[in-house]
Amino acid sequence: MLHPSPANAIYVEVILPLALPQVYTYFVPEEWAQQVQFGVRVEVQFGKNKIYSAVVVNVIQGGNEHTQKSKPILAILDDVPIITNIQYQLWQWLAAYYTCTLGEVMSAALPANLKLASETQIVVSPLYDPNIKGLSDKEFMVMEALNHNKSLTTDQLRDLLQQKSVYSILKGLLDKKLVYLKEDLQEKYKPKTISCVRLREPFDVEENLSEAFELVKKSERQTNALMAYLQIGRSQEHIRKKDLYKAGGNVDSTVLNAMSKKGIFELYDREVSRLGSYEEEVVEKFPLSEQQERAIGEIEQQFEEKNVVLLHGVTGSGKTRVFIELIQKIIDRGEQVLYLLPEIALTTQIVQRLQRIFGDQIVVYHSRVSNNDRVEMWKEVKAGKPIILAARSGIFLPFQNLKFIVVDEEHDPSYKQNDPNPRYQGRDTAIYLAALHDAKVLLGTATPSLESYQNTIWKKYGLVEMKERFGGLAMPKIEIIDIKEETKRKTMKSIFSSAMISELEAALERKEQIILFQNRRGYSPVLQCVTCGWHQECVHCDVSLTYHKFYDRLKCHYCGFTMSIPEACPACGVVGLHLQGFGTEKIEDELKIFLPDATIARMDLDTVRSKNSLLRLMTDFEEKRIDILVGTQMVTKGLDFENVGIVGILSADQLLQFPDFRAGERAFQLMTQVSGRAGRKHKQGKVLIQTYNPAHPVIREVIANDFDTFFTREITERKQFSYPPFIRLIRITLKHKRTDILNRGAKVYEKVLKHKLGDWVIGPAIPYISRVRGQYLLDFIIKIDREGKKVRYAKQTIRLAGNQMKMTEGCSGVRVNVDVDPM
Ligand code: ADP
Ligand code: ZN
Ligand code: ZN
Repeated sequence: MLHPSPANAIYVEVILPLALPQVYTYFVPEEWAQQVQFGVRVEVQFGKNKIYSAVVVNVIQGGNEHTQKSKPILAILDDVPIITNIQYQLWQWLAAYYTCTLGEVMSAALPANLKLASETQIVVSPLYDPNIKGLSDKEFMVMEALNHNKSLTTDQLRDLLQQKSVYSILKGLLDKKLVYLKEDLQEKYKPKTISCVRLREPFDVEENLSEAFELVKKSERQTNALMAYLQIGRSQEHIRKKDLYKAGGNVDSTVLNAMSKKGIFELYDREVSRLGSYEEEVVEKFPLSEQQERAIGEIEQQFEEKNVVLLHGVTGSGKTRVFIELIQKIIDRGEQVLYLLPEIALTTQIVQRLQRIFGDQIVVYHSRVSNNDRVEMWKEVKAGKPIILAARSGIFLPFQNLKFIVVDEEHDPSYKQNDPNPRYQGRDTAIYLAALHDAKVLLGTATPSLESYQNTIWKKYGLVEMKERFGGLAMPKIEIIDIKEETKRKTMKSIFSSAMISELEAALERKEQIILFQNRRGYSPVLQCVTCGWHQECVHCDVSLTYHKFYDRLKCHYCGFTMSIPEACPACGVVGLHLQGFGTEKIEDELKIFLPDATIARMDLDTVRSKNSLLRLMTDFEEKRIDILVGTQMVTKGLDFENVGIVGILSADQLLQFPDFRAGERAFQLMTQVSGRAGRKHKQGKVLIQTYNPAHPVIREVIANDFDTFFTREITERKQFSYPPFIRLIRITLKHKRTDILNRGAKVYEKVLKHKLGDWVIGPAIPYISRVRGQYLLDFIIKIDREGKKVRYAKQTIRLAGNQMKMTEGCSGVRVNVDVDPM
C-alpha cells in the first residue's frame, strides 16, 4: 500500500497481545483516517502471517523514515474506544512497576472476546437458532461453516471468506452471541434461565382480557393467577412463575399448566446472565451499632486528609456493615464503588450479603465468569454500574466514575498474582488505581499485613479500629495443647491429643459444630522408608510427593504428576513404607475412628474443584447436616456460621516452620482468622491449638489476641534483618531444562547485576523448590531502599542483565521471571 505524502499520513501506535517490549506503528489508509482514535481495536498483521486485534494507544500525524515502512492496518473494529485513558495509564504503571510488557498487561486486562488472534477458535453458540433472520451473506457463510465443523480458527475463517480481514465480522457475531470462543465451552458454559409466564395471543392485548377472564371464571385459582399476573405486569416486563405463586396465594404449577392448555398463558424460559443479575429479594439494612457508627465517623474524617484508611476490626466486629453504609453513600451520589475480595469463590457468603442489600446494582466479576458474561460486565461497568464486586482482576475494568474502593481481607496473600506476568499485588494496584480516579481506599481486616500497618505508623494511611465483637460477644477462648507432653505420657490418639478428642466429644454432645484446620491437603505428605529414610520425589519437580488416599496414589502439588505406591522401598528393598505427617484427608479418616458417630466433611482444593461443590458444602454445614468440617486455609476465609463451638488447629508447628520471612505473619493471620470462626452468633467459642512448642511467641500472641505485641516484635525483626516494608524485594528466577545452560546464563546475569547493584544482590541461590515441571530454577533476590530513584535504577539493570544474558551464546532459551514485591 502506498503511503500518501508523509506529512499528512496518519499512523497509529498499537499494543499487540504478545509479550513484546514496545508498541508498534502501523499506517492508517486514508479511508479510515477520520475514524481511528485512541482506545479502538484495529486488525493488524504481525510477523509473516499472524493476524491480531491490537489496541490503538496513540494516533500520529506525519511520518518519518521509520514509519515509511510500516504495514497498513487491515480494519478498525470499534466505533468507540474499548478502554479509557485511565486504564491505559494503569497498564503503563503496571508494566513499569512489575517489569513486564504492555502486551502482557493487556492480555491480563482485556476479556478474551476482545482479544482476537490467528489461533483463536470459535464455535457455534448453544443458543444459536438456524432460522434467525438478518444475517449478512458473510455472516451466514460463517454460521453455515460452523454448523458443519466443531470449531474454526480465525485463519480458517480467512480462507473461507477469501479475505484477510475477518475480525469485524467475527466481532459482529460475538456481539450477537451467535458464536462463542472455544475456551468458553470448555468452561461448560450453560445459560441460566428463569421460568416465566406471558399471555398468549389473542389475550395479550387489553381488549381481549375479558374473554380470558370468561374462560377461567369457573376456577377461583385460575382467576387469581390472572389477576396476579396483571398486577405484577404493571411494574415488570418479565413475570416469573415464582412471583405468581407468591402473589396469587393459592396458585401453583398445576394451575399454570391448566391455563397454558387453555391457550391463555405461555410458559417460557428466559435466559439471564449467570452471575450478573440478582433476582432475589432485597432486604433492609440492620441499624448500626454504636461501634460501627463511631468507625464510620472516624473513617470519613480520616478521608479528609488521607486517601487510604485501614479498618482494623477484630473478627466478628461487623466490618461488612460499615462497608455497606459507606458504599450506600457513594452510590447515592451516583458514583462507582469497587469492592475487592481475595477469592470470590470462597466468599460467596459476603457476595450474598451484599446482593441482599444492593440487589441488581452489583455486578460480580472474577475468573470463573464466562468470556461472554465478562464482556457484558465490562460494558455495564463502562455504562456506570454502581457496585463492582471482584477478585483482584477487577482493577482492570473500565470505570467511569470510581470514587471508592474497599479491599476486604487486605492481608490475604491471594491478592498477589504469582504467575504469569503481570505479577501484580491487587491491593497495591487498587491504591494506584484510586489515585488515578481521585478515589478513596478502605482496607479492611482483622489481621493487618505488616506493610499496611506500618503505613499507618508512617502516617501514610489512616487507622480506624473496632476492638469489640458485634453484640458484645466475647472473643473466642484459646487453649494450647502440648503435644510433646502427651507424646511423653503416651496419651496421643494417632494425630489427635486425648485432650482434643475429649473436647470434640463434649462439643458434639452439646450439639455444636466443629471446624478443624490443617494447612495441608492430601493424606500424609510423605511416604517414607523407616529403614533408610528414602522418600519419593516428583520426577519433574524438586518436591516430595503427597499421598492421596482417595486415589491411592502419590501426587505432586506443583505439576499434578501422579504415580502408584511402590510395595517395597526402591532404595533398600525393605517392605514397610510409612506415612509421615498428615494432611486434611488423613484427619478426616482418623477422626472417623475416634468419633464414629459424627458426620464429617472436608473442604480443600481436592473436594471443591467446582463452585457448586463448594456451595453445597457450605449449605450443608450451615444447615447442620455436617458436624465436623476439616479443611485447609479455605476454612479461614470469611465464613460466618452460627453454631461453631470449637475450632481446632491440628499443627501450629507446620505453619511456624515454613522457610520464609513471612512465616510468623502468616501463622498469626491464619490462626487468628480461623479462631474467628468460633462462636459467632450468641456464644463464646473455643479454640484448641496443638503444638510441640507452646512457648513460641506467635502462639502466645494469638492466644492473647495481642496484635500490638505481635506487630512490634515482628516489625523489629524485619527492620533488623532488612526485610519489607523497610526495603523493597525483587525476586528474579532463571529457568532452564539443562543445568549447564542455566548456570552459564546465571553467571552472565550475576555479573551485570553485581556490577551495577553490588551488595543489593543476593544469589544466585538454589530455591527451596529447585525444579518445577522439568525446569531447573535459580533465584536472585534484590534488596533495595524504598527510594523511587533506586528502585527504577534496579529495574533498568534487571532489563539490561536479561538482554545481556539472552545475547550470550546458548543462553537465549533461559527464561527470566521477575517478581516485584514477591509474597
Ligand atoms: P467481620 O467481617 O468484622 O468479621 P461481620 O461483618 O461478619 O464481622 O459481622 C459479624 C456478625 O454480626 C454477622 O453475623 C453480622 O450479620 C452481625 N452484624 C454485624 N453488624 C450488625 C448490625 N448492625 N446489626 C445486626 N447484626 C450485625
Ligand atoms: Zn511435580
Ligand atoms: Zn529404604
